[in-house]
Amino acid sequence: MSIVQIITIIGSIPLFSLRTFLPAFLTALLLTYPDYFPGLEDVPPVPEDAFISRNWVLIVLGSLSLLEIIGDKSTEVRNLLKNAETYLKPISFLAINLSLLDESSVDVLQEVQWAAFDPLWILLAFGTLFVHWLATLRKDFLDFLESIDEDDNLFIGKITSWIEDSLVLFGFLLLIWTGILMVILYATAITFFVFMRKRYNKKLEKQKLKCPACGEKNLPFAVKCRNCKQLQPQIYSIGIFGEKKKNLVSNIQKHQLNLISHRKCAECGNKLNSTRLFQNCHFCGNAHFQSPTVKEFIKYQDKKFYKLAGLSFLIGFVPVIGFLTSALMANIYLFSPYRRYISKGTSFLTKIFIKFITFLFFIIGIALGFIAAPAYIVLRYYIWKKKFTSRASKPHNFPSSVEKV
Ligand SMILES: [Zn+2]
Ligand SMILES: [Zn+2]
Repeated sequence: MSIVQIITIIGSIPLFSLRTFLPAFLTALLLTYPDYFPGLEDVPPVPEDAFISRNWVLIVLGSLSLLEIIGDKSTEVRNLLKNAETYLKPISFLAINLSLLDESSVDVLQEVQWAAFDPLWILLAFGTLFVHWLATLRKDFLDFLESIDEDDNLFIGKITSWIEDSLVLFGFLLLIWTGILMVILYATAITFFVFMRKRYNKKLEKQKLKCPACGEKNLPFAVKCRNCKQLQPQIYSIGIFGEKKKNLVSNIQKHQLNLISHRKCAECGNKLNSTRLFQNCHFCGNAHFQSPTVKEFIKYQDKKFYKLAGLSFLIGFVPVIGFLTSALMANIYLFSPYRRYISKGTSFLTKIFIKFITFLFFIIGIALGFIAAPAYIVLRYYIWKKKFTSRASKPHNFPSSVEKV
């Protein structure tokens, strides 16, 4: 086991925790065509009969990497693969490293009699577990980002995806040029990330308030205790990203409607997992939409809609920015609260149609924002509201999986 081998294995851990196929493809590409990589012109390629340098392997890995890069930009695809990925990534890591081992150190292994105890195997086993752990950590972090920007209105999902792609590419190049620097850099970044995550969780735990009646710790925006249902003396407002605001709630019903618009329990303030309208909260058992009702919720949304449609006419006079601001605000305040109750499975054609309409409105909105912005808001608001009300009128509102649109 050489130092280079150790660094290569350790350095590829963070890369495989980010992407399943891209680091595998880059490795195969490097071994087959080292002269494509600047600075490595003199490195001889692995023999042509080696598994990893076969043409079909390269083509398959390349296609899969491309699909991975494109698919990760879509919220639906990402959600579909999210859980499987935490297992696929360590498998991919192990497979690539084993195939490397197979080519380069087969002779060495034959010479060493205690080959079975080669520390390299221990390192590989440790690496595989580490990839799984990091991939799970990444998934939790993406889940957290998604809870802030559920519909990718702020493009957080797309931006992080591009950052991840770049991190894999950059990390890979850094690894082959100056491996030790890459390992130090990525290890520092991971340590910092884990530290920040711990600090954030601590902060969330600290924000919880003790119920005066039973001592149970509740979220700061809980109206009633999740354990004993006692009305809480201090209820904090909830921000647009689901964060705790500094001010206390004065109008409880309005606060509850705000919680519902975040798809949170109107009593204990916890997130509801299902997109169903009528469900019981997993934490306190409260029946969702019993109070406030669907009707009250729609009325609350309509009020916001009238205000924002009016406002968008005024700010529409500012070229470009006026339209963009209106569209973003409408997405966050008007469409998302409905969309959170509609399962994510709009057909491809509907999506293309919506993208086309948005683009058209954007073009008109550059100069005539005062017309385009209100028109865009009215049109899309009614589409989402209609989808929501049609779900509300269904008697049982079955789980979202049965009810793909
Ligand atoms: Zn209590
Ligand atoms: Zn609850």
